[in-house]
Amino acid sequence: MRIITHTCPDCGTVVAANELESTRVEKCPGVDCEHVLQFDDLPEHERQHFLANRDRYRL
Ligand SMILES: [Zn+2]
Repeated sequence: MRIITHTCPDCGTVVAANELESTRVEKCPGVDCEHVLQFDDLPEHERQHFLANRDRYRL
């Protein structure tokens, strides 16, 4: 299974898409980083792939 992640453009911290999907908007977990990450920041095809397979991404 392909893991979909989002990389913070400010600090490079990688966040899992399923985490973003559950919160929709999340402050970057990176140390001293105030960037806000959104599920909608993911590329269209990544979001569609995730939503189509979301049951398999549930832990
Ligand atoms: Zn960050």
